[in-house]
Amino acid sequence: MQVKSAVFVKSAEKASQCPPQTLPEFAFIGRSNVGKSSLINYITNQKGLAKVSGTPGKTKLINYFLVNDGWYLVDLPGYGYAKASKGVRQGFAEIITKYLESRDELTCLFVLVDSRLEPQKIDVDFITLLGNHGIPFAIVFTKIDKIGVEVLRDNIRCYSEKLLESWEELPPMLYTSSSKRKGADELLTYIDDCIEL
Ligand code: GDP
Repeated sequence: MQVKSAVFVKSAEKASQCPPQTLPEFAFIGRSNVGKSSLINYITNQKGLAKVSGTPGKTKLINYFLVNDGWYLVDLPGYGYAKASKGVRQGFAEIITKYLESRDELTCLFVLVDSRLEPQKIDVDFITLLGNHGIPFAIVFTKIDKIGVEVLRDNIRCYSEKLLESWEELPPMLYTSSSKRKGADELLTYIDDCIEL
């Protein structure tokens, strides 16, 4: 798939303010600073579509973008920002849970994880929750330019082993670097395949 158009539609403070469910949705989520905004800008080929933030943990809106007039790209709030207060963290969790519960058109949730890190409890817990609720998802390893191929392979193996402790099958996995512009084709092909199914 080539992204021919990507336009901002609206920001929702809660799931009830999201647009009517008329198009397939592909949502992006991850810990603050994982590279979510950079990835959205990279795959849509638009520098400022999502705000690359110098202040992690700030976005708490659900941002909708219409891509190729055919699907919604949904930028969900980042979770797990250590410096956020407990109340703010709970607020994030509630927004995200309500979104996941209510959107029948959610076709795939891309869970972004930093490829440099070993599995983080918060991500693994979140992935387990998705599995328990039958939410379709894929894991996207970000910032792969920051490590060598060998380390990346080791980290992916480590991640896979962790997931296989509680899963019989591994979810789809994708690998991206927004700064070196790698992985968009695979991600967009994945989205295309989901839409065509
Ligand atoms: P968000 O909080 O998840 O939206 O993360 P951002 O997209 O704002 O990125 C957080 C920081 O990581 C910024 O300083 C980005 O420039 C940097 N970053 C994001 N993606 C990449 C990448 O693929 N490679 C490298 N080296 N840095 C990245």
